Amino acid sequence: MSDLSTGWRAAGSCLSADPDLFFPIATGPAAMKQITMARQVCAGCRVQQECLDWAMRMPEAHGIWGGTTPEERIRARRARTAQLRRTARPSLAQGSPRAPLASRTHGWPGAPSIRAS
Ligand code: SF4
Repeated sequence: MSDLSTGWRAAGSCLSADPDLFFPIATGPAAMKQITMARQVCAGCRVQQECLDWAMRMPEAHGIWGGTTPEERIRARRARTAQLRRTARPSLAQGSPRAPLASRTHGWPGAPSIRAS
């Protein structure tokens, strides 16, 4: 999904789930239990990819989005940035730094699995 529309939210499986699962305030094992339960809901959600794209682009700093934790999204963004830098270097050497931009904006390299664990 290349835009920031939010129409997909109405189809989210989490609409009928406990919101606390997606924004755990507990720590340790209690939080892990909530995160696991949230991931299970996300695993069956038909707008999981749209949700993850949203969370990555905003970026959402809190909560479970698209089956990912904030820490996982940070790691995925860092991996994407590193990949963009690696991709940009050859084009700079060729004198066309903007040429591969379109191909570099699709997907989230290094994104964690969005399947429930
Ligand atoms: S992927 Fe998860 S957080 Fe996102 S809309 Fe679906 S159930 Fe909700």
